[in-house]
Formats: sequence, structure tokens, C-alpha cells
Amino acid sequence: MNILVTGGVGFIGSALVRHLVANTQHRVVNLDKLTYAANPASLATVEGHPRYRFVEGDICERAQLISLLAEEDVDWVMHLAAESHVDRSIDGPGDFVRTNINGTFELLEAARAHWSRLPAARAATFRVHHVSTDEVYGDLPLDGSRFTEETPYAPSSPYSASKAASDHLARAWHRTYGLPVVVSNCSNNYGPRHFPEKLIPLTILNALHGEPLPVYGRGENVRDWLYVDDHARALELVVSRGEPGRTYNVGGGNERTNLAVVEAICDVLDRLVPSPDGPRRRLITFVSDRPGHDLRYAIDASRLETELGWLARETFETGIEKTVRWYLDNEAWWRPIREGRYRGERLGQLT
Ligand code: NAD
Repeated sequence: MNILVTGGVGFIGSALVRHLVANTQHRVVNLDKLTYAANPASLATVEGHPRYRFVEGDICERAQLISLLAEEDVDWVMHLAAESHVDRSIDGPGDFVRTNINGTFELLEAARAHWSRLPAARAATFRVHHVSTDEVYGDLPLDGSRFTEETPYAPSSPYSASKAASDHLARAWHRTYGLPVVVSNCSNNYGPRHFPEKLIPLTILNALHGEPLPVYGRGENVRDWLYVDDHARALELVVSRGEPGRTYNVGGGNERTNLAVVEAICDVLDRLVPSPDGPRRRLITFVSDRPGHDLRYAIDASRLETELGWLARETFETGIEKTVRWYLDNEAWWRPIREGRYRGERLGQLT
């Protein structure tokens, strides 16, 4: 298949591109605007591969999308391009509305135009895979409940509201126009090449440098963590075997409070590179909570497991150890970002 991946220079997109090039025979065309969140170094292993092409572009530009879909004779669109950081969405929601909502609209329209011109057999196997988040469901109390594909949408932040809006568009384009759309909603990802404004990489790098480890509120918020390569395998299953019009929840069943995540990272680092100043848990610093901060997310991934045969391979313990080791071994990837030499951005304490 000829696959158009959007946002493939970001954290999850680059994991997906590497996975598809390494483990399938598909051709991968990666369209990305190269915002601050994109790091081309994440794709070093596929650069120059005969089944891989990078195109710089914006999903809001419909004409470019339409010509790229035709030129590459695209069979499947896997749509990951987005503004993805909740704190940035609170500081400046405009980019989130533009890319996540308007950009998804342009992409759906471009895909519809392309699909409508395909011969019947090709049109039947054409797919638009809209990649989304569990944050569209809002939050859960501290009990055993979990998000299913039937959980009503109740987004809390400008980020999750913009993703919810884009999910609604994607579903409507299936229902109204028959466009073969599949949607997946995944829990929090972590792993190598995660931009160091997010909790896990920020904590690893601050802990390594003996700097404060900011934790919102009392660190009681619970997230359901999934190792990024497990997500990439799920995405391949959903686009290739998912049923059009259907949604698939993706999650690893690894619920942890933010405080437990930060403590686990401290403990792994203390074991791998002991600090002369003592255990790194001493660096944990509670900071005032994020407005509208969701209390708990937890995913019921049984549809994906039973219908498509997916299972997460990493536990939180194995995944976090791999992640910490990757940051220890790949300073060249994160050093320019941390020092603000990367696209002129300087990260705040907890952005
Ligand atoms: P990311 O911020 O790391 O990467 C986003 C990529 O999209 C970047 O490469 C960026 O340059 C690109 N991009 C942004 N605006 C664009 C535009 N207008 N046109 C073309 N490209 C553009 O994000 P991520 O964490 O890899 O997330 C990828 C997708 O997965 C997003 O849709 C996100 O909502 C979803 N998701 C993320 C998580 C998570 O934990 N990170 C969990 C579930 C779902």
C-alpha cells in the first residue's frame, strides 16, 4: 500500500514511520509542517530508504494535499499531524483550532476528493485513519471505571476539545459521505524521542541534571501509560484490519499517578547512574495545578485486543527502563532542544 502519514516527524508519527518502513512492505510518504515539535533526527534510520519520502507541508493546504494524494497514488492516509501539548493549548489555543480542527477538515476533504476518483476496487480498500486521544472522553473518578468506545465525549482542555471536534468531523465524513474512516483513541504515550516538554522526558533530563522535578498539584492525577512502539503496532492493525466507521481504544492498562511515574524515573536513574548527592526523589517539587486538570484516564482496549488481536508488549517497568536508557545513550538528540538551540525555543520549567 502507498501510505500518507501526516505529522510523521513528531513523537508518535516518527515511531509509526520507522515501524512501517522496517516491518512492512508499504511505501510511506510523510507530510509534516516541521513545527517546534518535529525533530528530523528521529527519522535518521529511514532517511534515503527507497520506500520512504519526506514532504514538508501543512495539512491546512488542501491543494497540496490533493496533488500529493494523486501523485503518490495513496491507498491509506494515517493522520497524526496535530498540536499536541495541553499546556501550550491553554497558553495559546489558536494553533490548536487551526491545525487540529481546520487541518483535519482540509485533510478529510482532500481525501474525499481523491477517494471519489478511485476505481471501485481501490475505493473499497481506501482508508483514512484518524489518530486521536483518550482525552476526548474527559476524566474519570479514582475508581475502576475505564473509557470504552461508547463513553460520551466531554473534553476539558482546548487541546482535547480540538481533538474531539476533529473526531466528530472524521466520524461524520464516514456517516455522511461514506468515506472509509477508522478512528483510534489512545492513552498517554511515552518512549524514546519524546519532546522534552512532556512529563516523562522532562523528568528524565531534569533528574539527570540535578534540577527540580516539577509535579502538578500533589501528583495524584492518574494516566494510563503506553509505550510508543506498542501504539505504532496498534495503528498498523487498525488501518489494515479495522472496520470503516469504527473506533478503537488503545491503552496498555498501566495506570500510574504522576508522582509514581516521577518516582519510578528517579529510581531507575539512581540505579543506572547514581548521583553523588543521593537519591533523586529529593528533587521532586510540587507546583500549582494545571487549570482544568483531568483527574484520571484509563482505557478499556478489549475491542482492539479481541477483534484485531493486539496486545501491548511492554509493561510500564520494562518501557520506562528502555526509555531512560535511550535518553542516557542519545544526548545528541536532546541536547540542542534542552539548550534552546533548537528552533530558538527555550523550554519553561514545566511547559
Ligand atoms: P507531536 O507534537 O510530537 O508531533 C506532531 C507532529 O505534527 C509534528 O511533527 C508537527 O511538525 C506536525 N504538525 C503540526 N501541525 C502541522 C500541520 N498543520 N501540518 C502538518 N504537520 C503538522 O505529537 P505526538 O505526541 O506524536 O502525537 C501525534 C498524534 O497522536 C496527535 O494527533 C495526538 O493528538 C495523538 N495522540 C498523542 C498521544 C500522546 O501521548 N502523545 C496520545 C494519544 C494520541
